[in-house]
Amino acid sequence: MAEGGFDVPLKCSPEEYKHFVEPAMLEAQNSNFPSALDIVENGLNAHPASEGLMFLKAYFGYKIADTMSSELSSFPKVIQPLGNGALMVDGAMTSQLLGKFQEIVKILSEAEESINELLQVNPSSQEVVAFKGYIDSKKNQLGQESENMKATISNTPNIAGGFCVGCRKSISYDTQKVVFRKSSGSQLEAWHLPCFQSKVKN
Ligand SMILES: [Zn+2]
Repeated sequence: MAEGGFDVPLKCSPEEYKHFVEPAMLEAQNSNFPSALDIVENGLNAHPASEGLMFLKAYFGYKIADTMSSELSSFPKVIQPLGNGALMVDGAMTSQLLGKFQEIVKILSEAEESINELLQVNPSSQEVVAFKGYIDSKKNQLGQESENMKATISNTPNIAGGFCVGCRKSISYDTQKVVFRKSSGSQLEAWHLPCFQSKVKN
């Protein structure tokens, strides 16, 4: 697999290699990691003790998670400053983003399970240990980001109240666009975005 720059560091029978590793690597070369993972998982159904396939399961899972998390960087910003200390939080987008985080963490957890199985049979393999490190740090980083976001979302109603300062109607923090602003009494006010915008115009 010199052309892909990647060696399967663990035991794999010629049959496993021909039927699963090779076709999976072809998919991976086209960045089609979900298909590569499918092939490897089929292989593991037939050869559950294959160390090479277990490693690839973790590797492709990691690549899927990695691709998904780089796609998140093009995600619209969920929090935007509006000037004069006002902040707009897009609740629907935040919920969507949290959902993506959870999806990625789930994929990484599955990759980690595979790596843990491998570690039991290969406790001294440096590739496996190093790879477990990658997965762990990625998982921790995403977990931390989503915890911070969840904390912000669940705390704001406590601080800013459940009602819009403009129209006095209730605010749904996880579906609506909400503007936060410090009031003159230095309390935190919450507004529906349209209510805030029409107030600013007048
Ligand atoms: Zn309102």
